[in-house]
Amino acid sequence: MKLADELLLLVPAAFVLGWWASRWWATRRSGAAANELSSDYFRGLNYLLNEEQDKAIEVFLRLAEYNRDTVETHLALGNLFRRRGEVEQAIRLHQHLVSRPGLSDAMKTVALLELGEDYMRAGLLDRAEALFSDLVAMDAHAPSALRHLIAIYQHERDWYKAIEHARRLEVMTGEDEAPMIAQFYCELADRSRQHGALAEAREYLQQAFECQADCVRAFMLTGRLQSEEGHYLEAVDAYEAAIQADAAFTPDILPPLLNSYAHAQQMERAESFLRDLLGRYHGISPVLALAQLYRQRDGERTSIDFLTAQLRQRPSVRGLMALIDATMDKIDGEARENFLILRDLTRKLLEGQAMYRCSRCGFGAKAHHWQCPSCKSWSTIRPIHGVASE
Ligand SMILES: [Zn+2]
Repeated sequence: MKLADELLLLVPAAFVLGWWASRWWATRRSGAAANELSSDYFRGLNYLLNEEQDKAIEVFLRLAEYNRDTVETHLALGNLFRRRGEVEQAIRLHQHLVSRPGLSDAMKTVALLELGEDYMRAGLLDRAEALFSDLVAMDAHAPSALRHLIAIYQHERDWYKAIEHARRLEVMTGEDEAPMIAQFYCELADRSRQHGALAEAREYLQQAFECQADCVRAFMLTGRLQSEEGHYLEAVDAYEAAIQADAAFTPDILPPLLNSYAHAQQMERAESFLRDLLGRYHGISPVLALAQLYRQRDGERTSIDFLTAQLRQRPSVRGLMALIDATMDKIDGEARENFLILRDLTRKLLEGQAMYRCSRCGFGAKAHHWQCPSCKSWSTIRPIHGVASE
């Protein structure tokens, strides 16, 4: 995966170098220099493909020496430096390019965009922000510059600026950024909630719903706000709506939902909702919740029978664990010892399991994040479904 990604990223660089080399040959068909260049070029490519980037850079630097006027080669080199983590080299190269007299405006703005990415990579966010803002003001590569600015504001958790720039990006590209903007409003709502500013939090949630009417996170936050204020019936409404909006988040929504059912004394409603959920959701969470409900209401036997029947249809280690726990009290002697060992092994099996995975980049996590720590996408980290997880 990593190698394939790297190679894919190298395609534009290789293309640029190839185009430049062919143009160079066209003007200088004869002589040893062309042959030398040709062999250098292919040697460089070979190094790139073998992931020997040190040697590739050496060769391409030499190529760049042949023709100091070739901006594209320098851009490709700068890109290579940055991806290798040699950010200072990349910055020097791009700064040199930008300050070069006679450079066309088009090429200059490309170099500025690259320089901004170097600054971001080096953690010089103030400089990157200033540079990208200039590009937006000049209307040069504005969509790319806006995307980088949004990334900077997300990193700085400056959600107002993130929203403002995402809206500008929408206008500029015509692409729908509403789900992302809804997440920014959820961030603001959650921050207000943590500071006890509940009315403000509700206003932000309203804005989130205006962006995305079925925003599961906004429903979950509404449920949390309502239950924290003791409005358990409203909390139940919100959490049920969250599962209707996106059932994939059921394992995260069920615990606070069950808590709200209990406080609102709505156990019949709980049973009917969970029964209905069983039909359209194939994870183990609703089964475990119903087994718990039956144990409290109808006793252990009914609960175990229900659990056993369900586990035949949807094998699950967590379900097995619940069944072992429920059966433990009923047995003693050597069988009990064996059950203890079995329970211990099952627990170990579940420990260290990633419970969530990013659907975009494959990042695995034990806790849920609304923004993927790896690829920075929103709402792509979801509970894993499988025998060992949900
Ligand atoms: Zn990701």
